[in-house]
This record gives sequence, structure tokens and C-alpha cells, in this order.
Amino acid sequence: MIKDNLDSVKSSLPSGVKLVAVSKTKPLEDLLEAYDAGQKAFGENYPLELRDKHEALPKDIEWHFIGHIQSKQIKYYIDFVTLIHGVDSAAHLADIDRAAAKAGRVVDVLLEFHIATEETKSGFTMAEAEEMLAGLKDYPNVRVVGVMGMATNTPDTEQVRSEFRKLHSIFDTLKQRWFAADEAFKELSMGMSHDYAEAVAEGSTIVRVGSKIFGARNYQKIAENK
Ligand SMILES: *Cc1c(COP(=O)(O)O)cnc(C)c1O
Repeated sequence: MIKDNLDSVKSSLPSGVKLVAVSKTKPLEDLLEAYDAGQKAFGENYPLELRDKHEALPKDIEWHFIGHIQSKQIKYYIDFVTLIHGVDSAAHLADIDRAAAKAGRVVDVLLEFHIATEETKSGFTMAEAEEMLAGLKDYPNVRVVGVMGMATNTPDTEQVRSEFRKLHSIFDTLKQRWFAADEAFKELSMGMSHDYAEAVAEGSTIVRVGSKIFGARNYQKIAENK
């Protein structure tokens, strides 16, 4: 079933859009089934779960951290993570930079922006991001490769599209002002199971799809991880 779901999601994505299979709370067998079907990029939200899965699974998997950043837990994934999606403050960027320096790496990150109407979703404002970017050279162990955001959870697809469009325009502005000569700054991480079609239509380069591949999550497991 996972293989079929994966194939159907993949076949709906234009070439050039990367699929991160979001496997939080899911057992190793489920990840292996996706891996055996050719999926090599996985996204996780909980640092210890991410560390344990990385230890247990094949080493050519590319791991994406898509959860909330907590400074004390960066150490659990900094050695091997491919991309940290949700950097939402200058303080977290500084913490990642410090951990990456200690690990002897330069780690790719995305800046998270608040595009939804829900108040609970975190992220930079444009002013905060620009203030941070002005001092980016002080953080040589992070490389900012794009932006990430989550749309409002609503059936109103026009609203969802306009929020993704807003993230795209934030990306364009940052590209022009800060990264015009930087080819690495090219990623727009937007779109989940219920809205990745809208995100792709608005120019997403990375979609983060979980339940549509692995089925509904076990929320007991989420509570235990917190
Ligand atoms: C869990 C999660 C996803 C995947 O959600 P689905 O609705 O299961 O596709 C994507 N992005 C983030 C940041 C998440 O926390």
C-alpha cells in the first residue's frame, strides 16, 4: 500500500519537485517499504526519533528535519541532517551554526515564514529575516538555501494558493536582495498531503508529504515523543 501511495504522489509531481516523505511516528518497516520502492528522502519532526531512525536505516537515506527547533536537541541530528526546514529565529540560526561548527560541517537550512492566518504557526517576519541576513557572515557553518512555510488548514483552495504565492514572493524578494549571485538559494519548501497540488502550482520545489503516503498518524506516539 505504501508503495502504491508513493507511486501515485510521485506521478503527480512535475520533474524538478523534490518529494520528502514525512515519516514521523511511523515504524521502521514503513520507512523501509518506501525506501525499497525508491524513496531516499525522509522528513522527521522529533530529534530523538530522527537520531534512532538514522542509526537503524540504510546510510544513503537523506534526512530532513522539519520539526520545531529546540536548541538543546540540535545535537541529535546535526552530524547527518541534509536540510533543516524550519529555522524561525536568528537565535536558532546561531545555535545551528554553533552545533554545525562543532560537527565540522556546513549545514543547509531554510528560513520559515509565517504565511497562515493561524496564530500558532511560527516563522520570521520579513524585517526579522532581513536583520538576520545582514549579519549572515557571522554564521559560516550554515548555508541558507531557501524558504519554508505552511498554509492555513482550510478547504478554501484560493486562500491556500494566495498564501503560497505570498511565500513565493518573499522568496523572490530575498533572492533579489541577498542571494542574487548565490545559486544555492533556490528552494521553496511548501505543500503537505492536503495542499501540495496548490503549492506545486505556486512554484514549490520541495513538498513534504506524510499521511498521503504512510496513512494517518498515531497521536499517542506523538505525545510520547514530546
Ligand atoms: C507532519 C508534517 C508534514 C506532513 O504532513 P501530512 O499532512 O501528513 O502530509 C509536513 N510538514 C511539516 C512541517 C509537518 O510537521
